[in-house]
Amino acid sequence: MSAVRTTCPYCGVGCGLRAEPGVAGAYEIRGDSEHPANFGRVCSKGAALGDTLGLDGRLLHPEIRGARASWDEALEAVAQGFARTIAAHGPDSVAFYVSGQLLTEDYYVANKLMKGFIGSANIDTNSRLCMASAVAGYKRAFGSDTVPNDYTDLEQADLIVLVGSNLAWCHPVLFQRVTAAKAANPKLCVVLVDPRRTQTAEIADLFLPVRPGTDVLLFNGLLDYLRKEDALDLEFLDAHTEGFGVALRVAKESAASIPAVAAACGLKEDDVLELYRRFARTPKTVTVFSQGVNQSTSGTDKVNAIVNVHLATGRIGKPGMGPFSVTGQPNAMGGREVGGLANQLAAHMDFSPKDVDRVARFWGSTRTAAKPGLKAVELFDAVERGTVKAVWIMATNPVVSMPDAERVRRALERCELVVVSDCVRDTDTTRCAHVLLPAAAWGEKSGTVTNSERRISRQRSFLPLPGEAQPDWWIVTELARRMGFGGAFDYDSPAAIFREHARLSAFENEGARDFDIGAVANLSDAEYDALQPFQWPRPAGAVVPPRPFADGRFFTASGKAQLVPTPPRAPAQLPSADYPLVLNTGRVRDQWHTMTRTGRSPRLSGHHAEPFVQVHPLDAARFGLTLGDLAEVAAAAARIVVRIEITDTVAPGNVFVPMHWGSVFASNARVCALIGAAVDPISGQPELKAAPVRVRRYEPKWYGFALSRAPLQLPATSYRALSRGAGYWRYELAGEDLPASWPEWADAVLGPRAARIELSDVAGGRYRGANVEGEVLQACVFVATAKWLPSRNWLATLFGSQTLSDADRLAILAGRAPKGALESGPIVCSCFAVGRSTLLRAIRGDQLVSVEQIGKALRAGTNCGSCIPEIKGLLGESAAGAASPA
Ligand code: SF4
Repeated sequence: MSAVRTTCPYCGVGCGLRAEPGVAGAYEIRGDSEHPANFGRVCSKGAALGDTLGLDGRLLHPEIRGARASWDEALEAVAQGFARTIAAHGPDSVAFYVSGQLLTEDYYVANKLMKGFIGSANIDTNSRLCMASAVAGYKRAFGSDTVPNDYTDLEQADLIVLVGSNLAWCHPVLFQRVTAAKAANPKLCVVLVDPRRTQTAEIADLFLPVRPGTDVLLFNGLLDYLRKEDALDLEFLDAHTEGFGVALRVAKESAASIPAVAAACGLKEDDVLELYRRFARTPKTVTVFSQGVNQSTSGTDKVNAIVNVHLATGRIGKPGMGPFSVTGQPNAMGGREVGGLANQLAAHMDFSPKDVDRVARFWGSTRTAAKPGLKAVELFDAVERGTVKAVWIMATNPVVSMPDAERVRRALERCELVVVSDCVRDTDTTRCAHVLLPAAAWGEKSGTVTNSERRISRQRSFLPLPGEAQPDWWIVTELARRMGFGGAFDYDSPAAIFREHARLSAFENEGARDFDIGAVANLSDAEYDALQPFQWPRPAGAVVPPRPFADGRFFTASGKAQLVPTPPRAPAQLPSADYPLVLNTGRVRDQWHTMTRTGRSPRLSGHHAEPFVQVHPLDAARFGLTLGDLAEVAAAAARIVVRIEITDTVAPGNVFVPMHWGSVFASNARVCALIGAAVDPISGQPELKAAPVRVRRYEPKWYGFALSRAPLQLPATSYRALSRGAGYWRYELAGEDLPASWPEWADAVLGPRAARIELSDVAGGRYRGANVEGEVLQACVFVATAKWLPSRNWLATLFGSQTLSDADRLAILAGRAPKGALESGPIVCSCFAVGRSTLLRAIRGDQLVSVEQIGKALRAGTNCGSCIPEIKGLLGESAAGAASPA
């Protein structure tokens, strides 16, 4: 079998990949040099996809209430459950909660079933949590949900303003493209506006650490500055826009002067002025924004405040300029296209009577929903109230990722029928399911996805379906048949669904709707298989897609773009005496969503093996927090326990906790449980970036860790974090109850003592034990009543070997490398497993001063490049004499 060209299942960059068969059924995943999103580049997550293809942890058979069932039994149970509920309580008593992980074809049939044939619009996607504010902002301004940019705009711009976007970790290949563009064009200036000094700041010429929630004010001030400085495009404003006068008045009222803006935003006046000056004098400006803008109770206004300054300067519809939303998920855009959001009908049509009639005729349905359904937070509220009685969750994990996550869990636990289709057996959400349906995983699925630049690409299968897993589109159509709608769901392939989706986009369109891919509505199966990446719009007859808004025509009633007044609003909840810190959430470089896939990859797990909270040094001193201790992060609704990191990348008064850890990988680290369910009133997107919390040192009675070649059955502990290493599982532990005997506790953890070497120091409160069978270290556990424990790094290397040397065997219980052996430290470069200590030794010992020199010496940073910002950080720290060894 030759290499299969497909696309990455992680972020919205939508990189093209090649899956190349290797030895023993393994696959090497590389960037596709012909794909226009990445031209061969990948990030650490994409490069490690081959690690995630195994069947370990997969859901392979349908289950009903925990017992294996046939597909017939499971589908009948779901069909009858939904039909019974609808008959008794009406179509709005059921709901689907779907995902930006679904392929467009899966999404299309799920939306058609709910909105067209069940007759409710209660289908919403987890993309609601990611970019619903961008959709709402674009629609208010343009009359359509059109991202007006291409990735090439980043290479043609002279100024890139990144707002609320950690491109380096969340869209790493775009970060690489911007880095390369900067190297090629010395004129290119990058400005970062973000409450955190993220790794993206490595390429920023100017960094504005804006106070959370004040972005609207910053851009209102810019609009007023542009007017004062005569930097408006009056011709464009006059010919192609409406609403400038009111938008400007509101902007001026809120942003009286640069000093006032700077004070309110927590910025230096000079920095605000520098941003404004650069924006005013640089025609080729792209403003890139993502979750830091969208995940806010004023997210839609933030988007419109950004769009306003582009409309006011006519910087849209031309190369190298525009307000560019980059989406989080691989197919958030595909979901927008089919109507996966509850307030959209299908193919970018809404719920106007004309649209409803058009779509109903196209689908041949007499019961098409005529009004919007419940958005994500409303949907789970309705589940909690009992007005939604049956819910089907597809390919997502809302018990970890939704705000007020504990309430979501309780709601599902009391729901009459919870159906979950997923490829993973054990998630926080599958634990709440009555019926589990095994879905195909990446590598087994076939269909299309749309990336952040409106580029539709094929995702192609290269692995057989394992067990009884089925593609999502098949599961939905089988359910539709059982509910009596078989005639409308008579598809035999994703290609057939895609053709219908494309036909609907063109149906009675005539240029009235921007989303039109009529040119691909009649592809044969073979042409669909061979489909090359293309951007929409692609109406019938078009060969080259028209650049959106190049003609100055928008999709509003008047054909003119709208500047929207954006009065600033504070975040829904502000810090208080009880909860004095502002919690920001986000992603780390090497994990994806709730870690159901990336958590399986040893090379990705080494970067951050535990959930953590980042605290500024001043707050650490104020609250008595120490690096490496555990902390309780608490809000009114819940508390979590995570490791403390102290860093000035967060501002005083702010803390950061990543969103990834659920109950499978940590005992108590679901950060979304701390966040209230306040939403943007227009987009319905929750505020996930500004929740008041307190942080206290968590002081258990003991600390410990275990490393093992096989998964361990651990007694209950108050803190547990699980990660995968190369050939081992790692457990970080802490407990509030001291066992009566550590050796007996270790028996329960490690099994029979025959192969044990151990050190039990009762007076010193320490126990160390290791099972060594022959020449092989099978498992070890280290516990202590004091928090100091040996580094895990050297011990972990012993699991990569089948033969212990005598020196290693003697050193195990010391937990330290024998003399002469060197520690590598926490992983920085995932691709080549190069640790922080190794890098620092090389930087200092060999006097390396550049990323290139480090690449030559250690290979670090020479594959995907995702670690380059951290390597640059280490070079900087080392030059300043500030880097600690581990
Ligand atoms: Fe995948 Fe990384 Fe590309 Fe995003 S940047 S699509 S995660 S390879």
